[in-house]
Amino acid sequence: MPIKVLISAPESVVEEYAPHLRQAFAAEELDITLTTDPEAAEQIEYVIYHPNGPVTDYSVFPKLRAVLSLWAGVEHALANPTLTAPLCRMVDPSLTQGMIEYVAGHVLRYHLGMDAHITAQDGVWRNEIVPPLASSRRVGVLGLGALGADVAQALTDLGFQVEGWSRTPREESRIPAHSGEEGLETLLRGSDILISLLPSTPATENLLNRRTLALLPAGAFLINTGRGGVLNDQALIDALDSGQLAHATLDVFRVEPLPPDHPFWSHPKITVTPHVASETRADTASETIALNIRRDQDGDALLYRVDRAQGY
Ligand code: NAP
Repeated sequence: MPIKVLISAPESVVEEYAPHLRQAFAAEELDITLTTDPEAAEQIEYVIYHPNGPVTDYSVFPKLRAVLSLWAGVEHALANPTLTAPLCRMVDPSLTQGMIEYVAGHVLRYHLGMDAHITAQDGVWRNEIVPPLASSRRVGVLGLGALGADVAQALTDLGFQVEGWSRTPREESRIPAHSGEEGLETLLRGSDILISLLPSTPATENLLNRRTLALLPAGAFLINTGRGGVLNDQALIDALDSGQLAHATLDVFRVEPLPPDHPFWSHPKITVTPHVASETRADTASETIALNIRRDQDGDALLYRVDRAQGY
């Protein structure tokens, strides 16, 4: 009997993913019927999950073995009380590469002071300020997971002085890594450019607030590509207005799309990007999904399983 897999996603996503999923299932030698029809609920063993998909009640799938998210962030799925099956977040090499490129671009923009040249072409030849080398710029990365660890490594490879922070201490780490309250304080005090790649969890809510932003060196830069709830909006605006922070690039927000009247849009020291830092790509993400179903069918542990107690 073929394994029944339901994809719950907006139509355009289903259209994009279906051929790649079929190809990836074949490559793993999986006999799978892929459906979008929740009427087949009785037989469904896996659901491929998109936060804007049509399925909201997961209690109707008696044989459900796992829910496989197309997104790395899983706070939407965790907020659904009917979704009690094992949940896996997306880890996709293309998603990681996209994040590396986005973050490196904005770090280099700040590091080189590019805005001053792009926005102020006034016919005056000012060559007194030469950008320092990356080796004299300190970059802090909050979150050393699938995305944060590779972003930190890529910035290290560019020559920056990079340190990171995670919930659990690192015994072995390619970059200096901190954890805990004290570790956070040390990291913030030494970050000329701070990047947040933290997930949205009860423990990370408002982690970047008045007190913690004040620990950054005066004139620091912030790049938030993790989740909007990690940053207190008003604390950021106040830190920018006082000069404690020089500029912020924000890709994620408490409410998305960011409402047109939100003060971030018009703030001269904030760059807003519309949650485009990086996207899951259908070809490589389908391979992650297929591999996880293959593992589960073989009795191996699912990869990237969400720890419900920690919320990511
Ligand atoms: P991940 O592999 O689950 O890594 C999360 C990292 O955050 C881990 O290093 C974890 O520490 C750390 N962390 C979690 N809670 C913490 C806490 N309370 N204190 C300190 N560190 C904590 O996730 P990922 O795949 O790297 O993705 C990270 C986030 O990026 C996602 O959750 C999503 O929200 C966001 N994202 C954004 C975009 C975009 O386009 N803007 C795209 C994809 C993902 P441990 O290592 O100790 O567990």
